[in-house]
Amino acid sequence: MTAPLATTDISAAAAAAGLVEKTPLERYVPPAKPSLVGLSRAELAEALASIGVPTAQRKMRVQQIWHWLYVRGAESFSAMTSVSKELRAALDARFTLARPEVVAEQTSVDGTRKWLLRLPGEHAGERPHEVECVYIPEADRGTLCVSSQVGCTLACSFCHTGTQRLVRNLTAGEIVGQVMLARDRLGDWHRKSGLPDLRASETPTTPPPAGGGGGERLVSNIVMMGMGEPLYNFEAVRDALLIVADGEGIAISKRRITLSTSGVVPNIARAGAEIGCMLAVSLHAVRDDLRNELVPLNRKYPIAELLEACRRYPGLSNARRITFEYVMLKDVNDSLADAKALVKLLKGIPAKINLIPFNPWPGTRYECSDWDRIEQFSETVFNAGYASPVRTPRGRDILAACGQLKSASEKLTARERLALRAMAMTD
Ligand code: SAH
Ligand code: SF4
Repeated sequence: MTAPLATTDISAAAAAAGLVEKTPLERYVPPAKPSLVGLSRAELAEALASIGVPTAQRKMRVQQIWHWLYVRGAESFSAMTSVSKELRAALDARFTLARPEVVAEQTSVDGTRKWLLRLPGEHAGERPHEVECVYIPEADRGTLCVSSQVGCTLACSFCHTGTQRLVRNLTAGEIVGQVMLARDRLGDWHRKSGLPDLRASETPTTPPPAGGGGGERLVSNIVMMGMGEPLYNFEAVRDALLIVADGEGIAISKRRITLSTSGVVPNIARAGAEIGCMLAVSLHAVRDDLRNELVPLNRKYPIAELLEACRRYPGLSNARRITFEYVMLKDVNDSLADAKALVKLLKGIPAKINLIPFNPWPGTRYECSDWDRIEQFSETVFNAGYASPVRTPRGRDILAACGQLKSASEKLTARERLALRAMAMTD
């Protein structure tokens, strides 16, 4: 490492990296009214009942609000021009359409964008929490990496998020809200459909084309790979993903939604039955002794049980494969014997293998495998018939790469962040 950066260098480097300074925590005011974002249709109907909307009208009103929210991306009730003025006023008095508050936004040189979000604490008077959400544009898709928890209880030894003490589950609204705010920020509500922007106040007489989501969108794919273990926040993640996939709203196909788990075995079957999205499994080791060390949850659900749950995941085929993630840790799990064992282990499971170069963070005891070792490993896996893309680290200059999503509500100072960035850029 180079010598520590002086303060002036930090500000200069920060400016160069497009860092946006956060608003101070003390200024945080939690929302006074609940947001309708993330409510199911039944919950929306209840919300309408609570402000006196007659039963006979509720279904139609729910449809209208759903459309304005999830097809048009309405940010205020006043945009909902097909809803009566009285109802808009009544809704506005009790509810909002708020997404999580964005307190900082960074854009990487490679186009990756990261938003730092501030969420209310779990209990009144508790300090606010922070999570991150990352957008990764590629030629044929735009992937949004979404968080499911503040921090993570699982403490995988190579993961920065796992070192964070503060943990709470996100609500369905906070999860859907990440998708909404990415579309807000990217201007990604129906702009390619030829429909006018929702902020123009016209009545939506023409239905939107085929659901309003999918391939032409900037946000075309979702990965539950941000902070947290999604299968430890099952209900909220399920409810949120069902909204994101809903054909009359955001409409991102379940085939374009991937949930990554470190291996919460009982909830893998539930995810298959109740969500039906694609599955990624953070395997990282081929032997239980090593996996116990890297992913401590392995002590509860060892490799054999995990792979059995994978085999039973519904709808698997060559076109619908499970992604196995494998972080490349120098001299830990990266031998060619490991590569061969990996191939053997996955036999019979329609699988893809994602080799992830380890992203270092201050204080970690691991190093990323050497590049030629990653290539040899990848070749062994490829020769056995598996596609084995090495996931190119994206957004390294803004710390948006895997496992580096750690809430700044911990103690990361600007200096540490820059040191970390420098490390990531030079390895
Ligand atoms: N908790 C879930 C999803 C979030 S982590 C899970 O573990 O699957 C997303 C991916 O990033 C996982 O595969 C995780 O193992 C990997 N990861 C975590 N820390 C990393 C690091 N420092 N370098 C590279 N990948 C990392
Ligand atoms: Fe949690 Fe996943 Fe990090 Fe493990 S790798 S600590 S499960 S976020």
